Amino acid sequence: MKRALTWIGIAMLLLLIVMGVNAWRASAPVVVVEPFRPTLDTAAMAQRLAAALAIPTTSATAESPSLDRFFELHTLLQTQFPRVHAQLEREVVADASLLYRWKGREACPGVLLAAHQDVVPVEPGTEALWTHPPFAGVVADGAIWGRGAVDDKSSLMAIVEAVELLLADGFQPDCDVWLAFGHDEEVSGLEGAVAMAALLRQRGVALDYVLDEGGAITLGAIPGTTQPLATIGVAEKGYVSVRLTARDGGGHSSMPPRHTAIGRLARAIALLEEHRPAADFSPVQRELLRRIAPHVDPVQRVVLSNLWITAPLVERLLSAKPASDATLRTTTAPTMFQAGIKDNVLAQKAEAVVNFRVRVGDSIDGVLAHVRDTIDDADITIAVDEGFRSEPSAISSWEDPAFLRIETALRSVSPETDLVVAPYVTSGGTDARHYAALTPRLYRFLPILMTPELLASFHGNNERIPVPEYERMVRFYLRLLQPQRQS
Ligand SMILES: [Zn+2]
Repeated sequence: MKRALTWIGIAMLLLLIVMGVNAWRASAPVVVVEPFRPTLDTAAMAQRLAAALAIPTTSATAESPSLDRFFELHTLLQTQFPRVHAQLEREVVADASLLYRWKGREACPGVLLAAHQDVVPVEPGTEALWTHPPFAGVVADGAIWGRGAVDDKSSLMAIVEAVELLLADGFQPDCDVWLAFGHDEEVSGLEGAVAMAALLRQRGVALDYVLDEGGAITLGAIPGTTQPLATIGVAEKGYVSVRLTARDGGGHSSMPPRHTAIGRLARAIALLEEHRPAADFSPVQRELLRRIAPHVDPVQRVVLSNLWITAPLVERLLSAKPASDATLRTTTAPTMFQAGIKDNVLAQKAEAVVNFRVRVGDSIDGVLAHVRDTIDDADITIAVDEGFRSEPSAISSWEDPAFLRIETALRSVSPETDLVVAPYVTSGGTDARHYAALTPRLYRFLPILMTPELLASFHGNNERIPVPEYERMVRFYLRLLQPQRQS
């Protein structure tokens, strides 16, 4: 007995030593990057962005298919950025998407910078809740206000501003630079980005990497960290909606069967909420936690540096908040539920839609199998909902020079000296995935500090971008396109 205890003691000690060594090895790398803060005519840039925000380019739909607003935006770009339009090749693709080619000096795989022209609509009746109207294009209180200020006309305009400035300097890139501005990203990108990608592929264009929206800089996203964390999307989750239908004979509500269509469907939904797809750490998430580890308190550091044994604990911590929970698993969101026509009539049909964001490594088929097994009710039909769906993407490397270029550009234009830069999986879809056939290096990032207020504002009310953040964005693209440029 005593001997067994001694052995257990030794094993525990060894374990603690290993965990301690792992934590110690997880020291923060020292990253020194030369600051790049050129003086810009920020006031004029802010006004140009405001003017672009004043054009309500809400994504065209079957009900309102007009593309006129997009053409207005095209005209604005042409008048505001004469050099870009004189020196870059420009094509209108799929009616309203814009594809520019800035020819490089050599024939080598170039970068494609993606942004989208379209914005999500403003919910009717909420305009009055905005401090400045969503489509007025106002610069006030140190910010540029309007739908699209964050998501992501700011990126589109900042890219064009950067190219215009570089052209004024007589700069020509080594390799081609492509600018791809879709017009239907918010409604899937199946027309714009898909057509532009197909066109490039058909012409045999090789791309080094693609940079689109996706990640941003956040504060306190990971409990226990105080450092600003820049997350660069290297993969995106998949998307599928599943329609569940329960049918019944109907009849009078005075003599109901023991279980009605509504009851059975409600049970199915409750089961799906109860039994969620299992959580798992993707290689991306392990890398993210590894990069965060040096910046948290010693106890957390030991925990994060030893996922081989602490994974269940970290999983529980991350599961506590919806935002971090979503990074661990395929999420389950019942979003629609319809049944019944009158209070004393049994519904003949009850229907629900459950939206799943599919974890990288899982698949749409995997989701369907999970739904079938969980509900285990032959009387409920399960079908993939018509409309948008996409498989989770592949993972782009965070050790690639392209990732490092993005990281370096960000560091050189950022005032935060303690910035932690890490790869992550974006939970929303972006246009980037449509370019997957052209390069395995797809990155998703907007160089902007996303405070909780800003995070709530895009797709919500009072969308705006602080002027200094917009300035950082323009500098970022300048730096990225011309790494050797001096401040
Ligand atoms: Zn967007």
